[in-house]
Amino acid sequence: MDEGYIKFNLKQVKDDSTPALVLRELAALRNRLYDLKLIGRYPGGPGFGNVSHRIGRSNRFFISGSGTGRKERIGIGDFSRVIRWDREKNKVICRGEVRASSESMSHGAIYAANRDIRCVIHVHSSKLFSYMLDNGYPQTAPDAAFGTPLLSEEIEMVVEYLDKPEGVLVIEGHEEGVFAYGQDIAGAEKVLMEVFKKGGR
Ligand SMILES: [Zn+2]
Repeated sequence: MDEGYIKFNLKQVKDDSTPALVLRELAALRNRLYDLKLIGRYPGGPGFGNVSHRIGRSNRFFISGSGTGRKERIGIGDFSRVIRWDREKNKVICRGEVRASSESMSHGAIYAANRDIRCVIHVHSSKLFSYMLDNGYPQTAPDAAFGTPLLSEEIEMVVEYLDKPEGVLVIEGHEEGVFAYGQDIAGAEKVLMEVFKKGGR
């Protein structure tokens, strides 16, 4: 699949800047999720799962880079800055040392659906996935497949409909795929952990 990204190599975020503080927290969150095996890599296969954070009140966001799923620990240099995404063209434009995955469009859709959402988590877990489908959690249509503009549209619609700045969402057309979102990093992690404790392990 064509990932549709354009990569620019710009200078990295400085270690003591405001974005760095957010990225450090976001990296720590990602590393905790890695330890729970909610983010990682399939044996011999691709990495899965990513975390993102809105930049201020803009539609831009930081997201853990494509291919970082294999790393046990990531740091502030492992994030990409998504500056624009285009659903119709299935294209994501990002900046930074690492590139953003095509899943960025799903993160973007959640930010677009509600201005108060500032952190989005995407994890993979077969247990959590089945549990959420079996227990009536918010879900996207089964025919909205991963990486398609339709999925991003579906996600936006569901989050808009739920009309809450915090929640979880199971992506039926994306095997094992689950999203959580919140007003900040702690809020998104909290709603994910609530459902994870019930049915994810
Ligand atoms: Zn995924």
